[in-house]
Amino acid sequence: RLSMRLERVATYVPHGARLADIGSDHGYLPVALLNRGVIASAVAGEVALTPFCAAERTVRENDLEDQISVRLADGLAAIEVQDAITAISLCGMGGETIRDILEAGKARLSGQERLILQPNGGEQPLRLWLMEHDYRIVSEEVLRENRFDYEIIVAEHTGPVEYTAEELYFGPLQMQARSPAFLLKWQRLSGKKQKTLSNFERAQKAVSEEKLQEVAQQVRWINALL
Ligand code: SAM
Repeated sequence: RLSMRLERVATYVPHGARLADIGSDHGYLPVALLNRGVIASAVAGEVALTPFCAAERTVRENDLEDQISVRLADGLAAIEVQDAITAISLCGMGGETIRDILEAGKARLSGQERLILQPNGGEQPLRLWLMEHDYRIVSEEVLRENRFDYEIIVAEHTGPVEYTAEELYFGPLQMQARSPAFLLKWQRLSGKKQKTLSNFERAQKAVSEEKLQEVAQQVRWINALL
């Protein structure tokens, strides 16, 4: 059984995909998708030995060694051209980490892969990377599990795309859809941001003017959104 978070991620993996799940940990996502007959094959990449061994074990226990290659590798280095990967999932990591993995491994991206990203924070820098590399955000959602708000961002390489600073902050599609989970997330963050701003204003010398203006801008955006 997958967590609700990974269950939602799974819905964005196209039928028949050849999936690379990077930072796979126990390999639960590719194993579930193969057992359900959703995907054709998968690579499970892990940079750390303990989760790599855990993924190997899950794959072995499910008799999926022929369909899932578990590889000990840093980021997209787990992907080989022969894999003909059509979807890449990067889940349960900070948005900056996901961005860094994409940046370091961009030579391995053919542009044909759908990116299914589930950052834990750092969504703005991740969306900025996507925009700067001609990836359009095709789906987005916020979901809450275990008292935590998770975001899912699905992107495809489509050619140049422009998002405003505000869209990069909230997510262009989420700003339009205004789902209950999305609005709740920002309602919850609103007070925290306001507090951060007050603290910054009080401790002015310790915080750069630039940082202070950035947070002030975010508070204005959040107030306008809600
Ligand atoms: N993707 C799973 C999920 O969403 O439930 C596991 C998330 S777990 C919190 C993050 C995993 O990413 C860890 O197992 C960690 O070792 C792995 N990881 C972090 N940086 C990585 C990198 N550069 N390349 C491959 N795996 C990485």
